[in-house]
Amino acid sequence: MSIIVQKYGGTSMANSECVKNVAEKVVGTKRKGHDVVVVVSAPAGMTDQLVNRAKEITDKPSGRELDMILATGEQISISLLAMAIKALGEDAISFTSAQVGIYTDKNHNKAKIEEIDTSKINRALSEGKVVIIAGFQGVTKDLEITTLGRGGSDTSAVAIGVALKADEVEIYTDVDGIYTADPRIVPNAHKIDYITFDEMLEMAGSGAKVLHLRSVELAAKNNIPIHLRSSFTDTIGTYVTDEEEKMEEVLVRGVAHTTNNAKITIANIENTANNIAYIFKTISDANINVDVITQNYINKEGITISFTVAQEEYDRALTLSKRLGKELKADDVYGNEQVAKVCIIGVGMKSTPGVASRVFGCLAQNGVAIDMVSTSDINITCVIPQEDYSKAVLAIHNEFEL
Ligand code: ASP
Ligand code: MG
Repeated sequence: MSIIVQKYGGTSMANSECVKNVAEKVVGTKRKGHDVVVVVSAPAGMTDQLVNRAKEITDKPSGRELDMILATGEQISISLLAMAIKALGEDAISFTSAQVGIYTDKNHNKAKIEEIDTSKINRALSEGKVVIIAGFQGVTKDLEITTLGRGGSDTSAVAIGVALKADEVEIYTDVDGIYTADPRIVPNAHKIDYITFDEMLEMAGSGAKVLHLRSVELAAKNNIPIHLRSSFTDTIGTYVTDEEEKMEEVLVRGVAHTTNNAKITIANIENTANNIAYIFKTISDANINVDVITQNYINKEGITISFTVAQEEYDRALTLSKRLGKELKADDVYGNEQVAKVCIIGVGMKSTPGVASRVFGCLAQNGVAIDMVSTSDINITCVIPQEDYSKAVLAIHNEFEL
């Protein structure tokens, strides 16, 4: 018999009507003859509320106590769903991560799963039960409760799928798949049927916030397909797989964007490896995540370094950079709190030259200035003025006839 892991997100579990709808879907799958393991998130908005409750007490709750409260949201979902499935006449049992043995490291609020004990799950499946497991949470070997980071229940589902050698992991959400671009910007954007793991990783890292990044990494590493689909319809969604042969030959699979970027420039410092290493070590020691980096030569001795950070890190990053600028005798340190990032992604560009030049040409024709560029073999990322991002996404979507 095949094992299917289904994950339902917060919007699918938002209220009793939603829970009953999920129960119908689960029971439908079970009655097709599959063994079904369901992973659920907390009802929509609940994890935010729990964070706020903690923040009302102190702005620096300890990681351990924060996990203690955050893990409760998912426990509400598993219980309600088990009741709803039983009410439809199928047997079901809910488990917390601690009950199953989803073991993580000790990093509270961003724990990584290390091992999953499948014995309890398999026993319940062999008794004909639907198994419902709380996503997002884990437990250390000392039975301390941990969580995997916001959005982490996707990762729980894939990890459980890997441990059970499931045939497929279905991730049910409130959109019906991955789109070629944000449909709010590009009216004729369309759903992608198949996308490779690598493309999905680039999309997820570039603003398409549909899947938790680590869930895709885990699925890719273990070659387990993810079917991302809507819990509100029956339509087929997007398959994330490595089966490239199934996929249409396309140059560009999709255009992703982010608007939450800021840029900082440290102008004209002495060009030594030490200086560059020192800048980025200082910034990473301050726990600031750097995204795109460019380095321009002023002359033989001098370089200018620019990098982007998330907007919420801008003030801290600029203060730090000004200090660094003084130390390294930069000519100037300045920033732009509002830039956008447009990412053009597709495995086809690996083997076809000229994609970058088409992108640049298209942006130029549309009067969009390119501030910075970074590329991988399947991703061209342009940092552009914030006010131009929708124009840029639209133009590129048209250019490649997505
Ligand atoms: N409930 C958690 C969150 O809101 C985990 C998840 O939804 O994946 O981040
Ligand atoms: Mg999510």
